[in-house]
Amino acid sequence: MGARPTKPTSRPVRPPPALRVIGVVIDAQGAFPQEVRLSGDGRVLERGSRGTLGPERTGERTVRGIVLPASVNGHSHLGDSLWGKEPPRLPFQEVVAPPLGLKHRLLAESSEEEKREAVHAALVSMRALGTLVSIDFREEGLEGVRLLRQAARGTGVEPWVLGRPTDPLDRSEIRAVLSEADGLGLSALRDLPLGAPELARQEARRAGKWLALHASESVWEPIDPVLDLHPNLLVHLCQATSEDLDAVREAKVPVAVCPRSNALYQRFPPIAELERRHVPMLLGTDNGMFQAPDLFREMEFAYLSSRARGETVEPRTLVEAAFVNPWTALGRPMEARLETGGPARALVLRLPTEDPYYQVAARGAHRHLLVPRGSASPSE
Ligand SMILES: [Zn+2]
Repeated sequence: MGARPTKPTSRPVRPPPALRVIGVVIDAQGAFPQEVRLSGDGRVLERGSRGTLGPERTGERTVRGIVLPASVNGHSHLGDSLWGKEPPRLPFQEVVAPPLGLKHRLLAESSEEEKREAVHAALVSMRALGTLVSIDFREEGLEGVRLLRQAARGTGVEPWVLGRPTDPLDRSEIRAVLSEADGLGLSALRDLPLGAPELARQEARRAGKWLALHASESVWEPIDPVLDLHPNLLVHLCQATSEDLDAVREAKVPVAVCPRSNALYQRFPPIAELERRHVPMLLGTDNGMFQAPDLFREMEFAYLSSRARGETVEPRTLVEAAFVNPWTALGRPMEARLETGGPARALVLRLPTEDPYYQVAARGAHRHLLVPRGSASPSE
């Protein structure tokens, strides 16, 4: 090969190839037939009605499909991702309840290294599925918080870390957890000693951080003591009554539902009832030990099982639970609006656009997904 003159400069920064998508945009505003031009990292460079963005440009690729904001996993426990077997057919308390459930013994018996690798792998698969943030309940005190942050490096997923003190009555431990976490993620009130919920509330408020907890998952719990804590997020509510759900609506607390996880114990979250009340829902994949952290599977299961139960939910409700509502819950609503120059990062699903919410909720899968590369966090 002939020698070619090379410029004595550092490696040139090439602009990432852009994507032009003709189809439908789904975001916080609704679903619209549109054309969008995206940068290589999923930012919206241009958006307009069909036919307004002109022809394909050099280096650009044109596809047809549905454009969405990146998703947020509304409830995960990635720390237990290292279990590799079928969920044991045991009662709920024996599997996941603290402190002696299988899950907690597994956490205690595994090395830091094993846990970090399993969490890292789970986050990598989340990113490939278009998830940018996971609202994760992280057990094991401050060490647990640090493990998750370390494991997230280089994955492109930003963990929203809700830590849990090993001693829920130890104020200094709670403060240490809150100093590095985004808030506290507690088990159910009934698992906590007297005084612990109030202490958690005080300290989370003092730190200006989140307090989130599980409620009425396996057995009914009174909702008033839960709402008195002014939580930022509740999880499950499978056993909640209609009156409880009215109170949740009045308190304006978002609810993360985890239908696949609940199905293991013959339960189902009250998705249709929450939908009827316009309670903002998030969708979570819950324990990493049992469910893949895949919100497409979660949406499909939620849709089909709600129909099977005769309590059909709108596909739009499920799509917004994965791609729109959590951004508002996180205080970052602009990331659910695909506006030119905005902070949102887009995904593209190569699916038919005639009934886009149904396509995304019931037929969306990894193989349809184009996830623009690019970093979710400066650590990548
Ligand atoms: Zn949970």
